[in-house]
Amino acid sequence: MNKMMTGTVDVTVDMPKKVAPEVAADIVKESVFVSPHLERISVADDCATAVLHIRDAEFTDEVVDKAARYLAVMAKQRTGFDIKCYSENIRRDDGPFQAGVNEEFIKRGWVYDYGKGQIAYNGPVLKVARLVNEIAGKLYEENFDAVDGQFPGFIDADILHKCGYFDSHPNQATFVGNVLEDFDALEEFRVANSCAEGAILPPSEHIHHDGMCLNPAACFPAYPTLEGKTIGQDGFALSWLGRVFRYESRNASGLDRLYEFNVREIVFVGTDAFVARKRQQAIPLVTGLAETFDLDMKIETATDPFFATVSASKKFFQAAQEVKNEILIPVLDKAGNKKPMACGSVNMHGRFFGEKFNITAADGEPASTGCIGLGIERWVLAAFTQHGFDPMRWPEAVRDRVFG
Ligand SMILES: [Zn+2]
Repeated sequence: MNKMMTGTVDVTVDMPKKVAPEVAADIVKESVFVSPHLERISVADDCATAVLHIRDAEFTDEVVDKAARYLAVMAKQRTGFDIKCYSENIRRDDGPFQAGVNEEFIKRGWVYDYGKGQIAYNGPVLKVARLVNEIAGKLYEENFDAVDGQFPGFIDADILHKCGYFDSHPNQATFVGNVLEDFDALEEFRVANSCAEGAILPPSEHIHHDGMCLNPAACFPAYPTLEGKTIGQDGFALSWLGRVFRYESRNASGLDRLYEFNVREIVFVGTDAFVARKRQQAIPLVTGLAETFDLDMKIETATDPFFATVSASKKFFQAAQEVKNEILIPVLDKAGNKKPMACGSVNMHGRFFGEKFNITAADGEPASTGCIGLGIERWVLAAFTQHGFDPMRWPEAVRDRVFG
């Protein structure tokens, strides 16, 4: 390779084996995490070859090597799970799905996009977001006596480690950095910025990490608060609106893939039987929420894999004895075709968190836990996609609250 070669270059490589289309889609999506010198990997329609879009030709050898290892791991993903549908709602609105919803939000001034996966919103977008949160919160309170709470947006790395997060999603973690407690480093940082046009960040050796992260899954902060406790009766439920952060790199876009978003969460803690029973009772409530907003929705077995390294994800699955169901609401992809969007999940963790955090159920065994998270902004996007911007197409139950 000519060391002086610069600029972008495309390299076609053979896939280690022919993969299923859903695996190919994952390969494309996660490829932003392969190398800083790789723009993206695209997979050919026949799923037999892939093209590496390399940003900097100088690093071609390095990127080709890394991509080969990435593809080898990704191609091993198991597919063909038996997909079971647990519940379904079919909308009454027979109008077409609305295309370009994210763009229309911005045009109407209802959403401001900061450009890195963070948004500000107001008007009907805010009203739908609040309604989804409010209705779900009320259902949880009425049906499960869920105790309302609030948790911080920061979380200690030790808690994330205990929750198995670094094993399953190392690419999505965010670490909080502070300027070193050092007079010279602080002064250097102050002076550099006092006369600068744009922000000048401290050099990396002047930033230290004391182990704080931004919380990447709504329910994690709940478990340490229960540490060492014995749960009375059969169990109980906790519910809250959580702020969640998942680093998406260049995949961040619109309300469907935010770095920072809101989740209405409910966590069940108690005996195995209690948690299993609550999950059964919760599924029709989520379906009822879709009915209130008149949305096509299905709750199905989830098949989405964790990041790249399959062994780690398997380990996590086994440890957590996980059963994950996804709440899928169809929206439109960029080409205008309907595609299911995961607007939340119903998760059974078994005794994973009970054991990790020493939480005991009423029967003396480690407590079981389960949770349901609803991605608020995705519900908003789904509702506007399925009903558009004409209030008359929205269900009467929510119309005035959204457009009034
Ligand atoms: Zn959860």
